[in-house]
Parts: sequence; structure tokens; C-alpha cells
Amino acid sequence: MAPHPIAEIASYHAHIYFDGPEQRAIALTLRDQIAERFSVSLGRVYDRLIGPHARAMYQISFDVATFAQLVPWLMLNRQGLAILVHPNTGRERTDHLSHGVWLGEILPILNEEMLSDSTEAEDARVPNTTPTLTP
Ligand code: ZN
Repeated sequence: MAPHPIAEIASYHAHIYFDGPEQRAIALTLRDQIAERFSVSLGRVYDRLIGPHARAMYQISFDVATFAQLVPWLMLNRQGLAILVHPNTGRERTDHLSHGVWLGEILPILNEEMLSDSTEAEDARVPNTTPTLTP
């Protein structure tokens, strides 16, 4: 099979997971720090399980150019939180199950049957942050 060109990646998600009140507080502080430093779209905080995610979390949607800054920043600053970074290629099943990279703990992907490999590749959502600090 021919290799996939990286042009297939329309955007990325990072899912920031947290377990319990202590990690939740860390995750929310991290969320503010991300908003201060990166032009991204921050999703709402889910305290319940949603979709394929096996732990409470929030999502960050960002464009291809932001990856090279945001992901190293998360490496240095995740404070023990588990993070899934996955591409959006239109194959959401494969994007979550095979093409993602985990920072820290690797969590299961739930409800695989709900994920399709034939969807429209999701572009990065319109940023909802106004960064004032350099990463
Ligand atoms: Zn996602």
C-alpha cells in the first residue's frame, strides 16, 4: 500500500483527559494557559463520557501549522495528564485507533462502531482564543 501523504491531514485534535478533582483543576488551568498562548478552538469541558473517549476531557481543534508549537508545549506542560493527539483525515475510526499519538497514559477508545472511516475531513475550527503570550 502506498504511504499516505501528509496532505491528507486537514487538522488535528488534542483531547486533554482528567480523572478526579485534582486532575480536573490541573486540566482547567492548562486550558487557560493554552488559550493565552495558542490560536485554537477550545471545546467545552465534558465531565461525563462522550463519544469514543474513556475519561472526562476537553478537546482542542487546531490547524496543521499549530501542531509544531502546541504539541511540544503540551509535552512539557501536561503535568501527568493523558493526552491524545490525532489527525483529522476523514477516517475518524483510523484517526483515533491507529494514527493518534498519546502523551502519557494510553486510554482505550470506546464505541469504535460509532466511528466511520468515510466522513468529510474536518477542517480546524475557527479559533476562539486570543493569545497574548508566546509559547
Ligand atoms: Zn477528536
